[in-house]
Amino acid sequence: MRLEAMYQEIILDHYRNPHNKGLRDPHDGEAHHVNPTCGDEVTLRVRLGAGDDGSTVVEDVSYDSLGCSISQASVSVMTDLVIGKSVEHGMRVAEEFTSLMQSRGQAEPDEDVLEDAVAFAGVSQYPARIKCALLSWMAWKDATAQALARRENA
Ligand code: ZN
Repeated sequence: MRLEAMYQEIILDHYRNPHNKGLRDPHDGEAHHVNPTCGDEVTLRVRLGAGDDGSTVVEDVSYDSLGCSISQASVSVMTDLVIGKSVEHGMRVAEEFTSLMQSRGQAEPDEDVLEDAVAFAGVSQYPARIKCALLSWMAWKDATAQALARRENA
């Protein structure tokens, strides 16, 4: 199977069977992000916890969303990549994914870091769709920042 067809398959799979969809409680931070050019919307909740090594861990991410297949698949993949990981790790993946999206199809995606998110590599060639793929990552960073601020003030 060609790489592009394989990537397409991953995206369709997450679109048809989204992971972690449906808002859950308890949560520490929530963000609502909109991509007006496409009509994508996501409301995303983050629950943080303490890891064994003293790091802050993403205990749960849940969401409600509507929009195109790229945005829907992206949020599903994103939750898989950050739940159970440290916030620091999640931020690193977010950065890696953002630079992939800004690469205009020139970057060689790091599959060890991005896992299923490599499937979006081709999206970087379509400027109109980049925001669709990035929407949920922005919402996650936003909700996580809120959750961290709340923990600091607690
Ligand atoms: Zn979209």
